[in-house]
Amino acid sequence: MPMEEIKLAASFKIDLADVDEATISEIYHLFTEYQGIVNELIEHAHSHKITSPKRLWCAKYRELRQRYPTLPSHYIHTACRHAASIYKSFVEMKKMGIPCEKEKPVFKRWTIWLDDHLFKLNIEGWRVSIIVHGGKWVTLRLLHGKYHDKFKSMELGEARLVLKKDGNLYLNVVFRQTIVLPEISADAKVIAIDVNENVVVYGNDDFVERFETNEGIIRTRYFLKRRRIQSRIRGRDLRTRLLGKYKERERRRVREIYYKAVKRIIDKAKEIGATVIVMEDLKHLNRKDKGSKELNGRIHRWSYRRFQRILEYKAKLCGLHVKYVNPRGTSKTCPICGDELEESSNGRRLRKCQRCGLEEDRDVIAVRNLTRRYYEECIDAKTPLKPLLIIGAG
Ligand SMILES: [Zn+2]
Repeated sequence: MPMEEIKLAASFKIDLADVDEATISEIYHLFTEYQGIVNELIEHAHSHKITSPKRLWCAKYRELRQRYPTLPSHYIHTACRHAASIYKSFVEMKKMGIPCEKEKPVFKRWTIWLDDHLFKLNIEGWRVSIIVHGGKWVTLRLLHGKYHDKFKSMELGEARLVLKKDGNLYLNVVFRQTIVLPEISADAKVIAIDVNENVVVYGNDDFVERFETNEGIIRTRYFLKRRRIQSRIRGRDLRTRLLGKYKERERRRVREIYYKAVKRIIDKAKEIGATVIVMEDLKHLNRKDKGSKELNGRIHRWSYRRFQRILEYKAKLCGLHVKYVNPRGTSKTCPICGDELEESSNGRRLRKCQRCGLEEDRDVIAVRNLTRRYYEECIDAKTPLKPLLIIGAG
């Protein structure tokens, strides 16, 4: 039986009501020091082009250990991983061509990564203990609700200590769960997903459905809103606050829509008895398509990854397999004969095959090609292709 591990994050607000001043200032001190270390490590990563946490650790650990002798050494371990991941995603964004004015990333957040040497969780008593300077342990009470009960049966992973601007302290914990998935049979039913700026298209050789997300429209609206704020609001603090507020609101709206689309897809999979979800492997696309598409497309792909992560995790929880296939040319190739498609004169979204006469909506074509790729790439024996229903042509 194939096993997959899924991760689920839980966020706990920390009760600071009965915590004494000395402990609070000790925690604050930890945040400042950790942030300084991460920024120093990013600086080093940037000047030496290092994205590997291990290499970063080898280069800087001794020196940092000497300069921070009372800081538990695992903070330096996690800071190395933290800095490497920040620098790596910065490099990745640059590669995708997302414009960024900054030369190098700066870590401004108040977040500390905690590995299993730095914190202990007592989930029955809802307490967390965190090690601070000099190896002293500080125990804090976690505020919790019914929602948190389900984590009791899960395996504990890493955690993040987060200090919000309003002074509230949070502990975000990753829990792991191993999922046993059924074996995939060669004739497994699949649902392939094609995500466009404003619509999620999903289906296989037998059906294709759409879910309107209007994500592109929402993003444009927020973009214009932010631009208005930038040009009209004078006070710097107010401007920053408003920009932050709308950015968060946009993020939340898009996420909500993603969750709805994911639910629709999973319900459909259950309804038709599909056991595999097929998505585009964006790594292929980014490397080869670098710089060839307009900016919007690149930002869209960046957010598509977030959609993929949500769908992947929800699908696995429901016992579905998730497979990624090379999306190269999936909207330009005829799913029947493999010939190159041309734009049709019957409609902007239609594509036509000169060889076999197929005329179809380009989203439908992408979904069918992804389905076909799955059988080609993931199942050894190529399954014979079924003749397709032609929906697009009037
Ligand atoms: Zn054809």
